[in-house]
Amino acid sequence: MTAELTAQVCVVGGGPAGLTLAVELAKRSVSVVVLEQSGHFNRSFRGESVSPDSVWLLDRLGLLGRLDGTYAQMHHMEIVDGGSTVLRTDFSDYRYPHPYPVELPQPALLSALAEVGREHAGFTLRQSATVVGLLRDGGESGPVTGVRARTPDGEITVRAALTVAADGRFSKVREMSGLPYEKLPLDRDVVWLRLPFPAEWDYHTYRIRIRGGEHGLFIPTHPDSVRVGLNIPKGGLKDLRAQGLGALHERLDRLAPELSGTVRKEVRSWSDTSMLDIFTTVVPRWSTAGLVLMGDAAHTLTPILGQGVNHAIIDAVTLAPLVEETMAAGGGTQALLRAGERFQESRAEAVRRSRALQLRQERLFALHGRLGGALRRSLYRVVDRNRSLQQRVLARAYFQMQQPGPVVAERVRRESVRPV
Ligand SMILES: Cc1cc2nc3c(=O)[nH]c(=O)nc-3n(C[C@H](O)[C@H](O)[C@H](O)COP(=O)(O)OP(=O)(O)OC[C@H]3O[C@@H](n4cnc5c(N)ncnc54)[C@H](O)[C@@H]3O)c2cc1C
Repeated sequence: MTAELTAQVCVVGGGPAGLTLAVELAKRSVSVVVLEQSGHFNRSFRGESVSPDSVWLLDRLGLLGRLDGTYAQMHHMEIVDGGSTVLRTDFSDYRYPHPYPVELPQPALLSALAEVGREHAGFTLRQSATVVGLLRDGGESGPVTGVRARTPDGEITVRAALTVAADGRFSKVREMSGLPYEKLPLDRDVVWLRLPFPAEWDYHTYRIRIRGGEHGLFIPTHPDSVRVGLNIPKGGLKDLRAQGLGALHERLDRLAPELSGTVRKEVRSWSDTSMLDIFTTVVPRWSTAGLVLMGDAAHTLTPILGQGVNHAIIDAVTLAPLVEETMAAGGGTQALLRAGERFQESRAEAVRRSRALQLRQERLFALHGRLGGALRRSLYRVVDRNRSLQQRVLARAYFQMQQPGPVVAERVRRESVRPV
């Protein structure tokens, strides 16, 4: 027999977007069931760089204290191109309450969110529950009224006035909903690997190394390692693997010769690496009757400047008060649809700006040849020398919430962020 749960909101996906939303709803006495396909929160290589705005939000949500000891602040960002330092940012120059990005492993963030959620009545998290179908009223094109999920104990259904797709970059719910979307592949993919943190490096610095058309991201990873992201041509993993692991080692040698010994010791098979297919997804409409998309399901971004988790958390604190307000007024399908539209209106412009910044940065990385390299270095040096330009460029990614101005930031400040 199929077990049936009922809640005001069913969230599909217990990542940063889904869990933050569920906690914010439960705090507002909106009942919520989260269905998460994985049985645990252990995930590596993803979503560890958290923007200053999200750090500020996590603080206001009362979570930062609980996360003490699980994250590290980053104080500088340094770009070295063709062997010379062309740009260095000191985040302490930024006059915001939280100027520093942090490196926070997702398992710590997700466990803390689940812990806070369980302290509130009306919060249910079902792990090992994979959503496989949507429930609809009155046939295929009727409003979504919940989901069907597979669990180790058999199938369950969750009936809800609103279903939220927070199931990530390959969202099944988005697919099943029929909402159209466009996946835009970037020209290059990234191979990730993890190495012990080199003793001679400062732990609080993000490093970007570029040589010709190759670049590497070197991201300190709590507590004592460094994540290395190396670009490869789109779909180029097969070719790289055919050349053997030595080709990967040599790629790293060209960017960070000081890691040559370590990479040969630590990366002995392809299973010590992980591949990220880089694309961005544009979804023109984030909601339909009974359903709203959020986080990566609504707007997949690239890893540049750690924007995915940031937008996931801002989505959650923007959507929660809109849902609360609508549920309090009766929670009708049309009113919830309007809430979904207002949510997209509040968020779309900020997402668009982040995407545009990432795409510009990706194009800069990809410049090569003598002229291309020289142009890139000149641009970075201009930004390096002009502090106010540098602050304006980074503010588009890091300080959209903390600076006064945007309506959504004001609204979130005034209404939605309640301490736990
Ligand atoms: C390799 C890699 C590195 C990254 N590095 C960074 C970074 O440093 N900083 C940053 O900000 N962003 C980074 N990102 C992006 C970041 O991980 C995402 O933007 C962020 O996690 C989005 O949160 P989300 O909750 O929307 O989606 P996700 O974190 O993807 O969560 C979706 C959840 O839905 C679950 N799910 C999927 N399908 C179903 C289903 N059918 N039923 C039930 N559950 C389901 C998944 O198991 C998952 O837990 C990285 C991504 C990758 C892949």
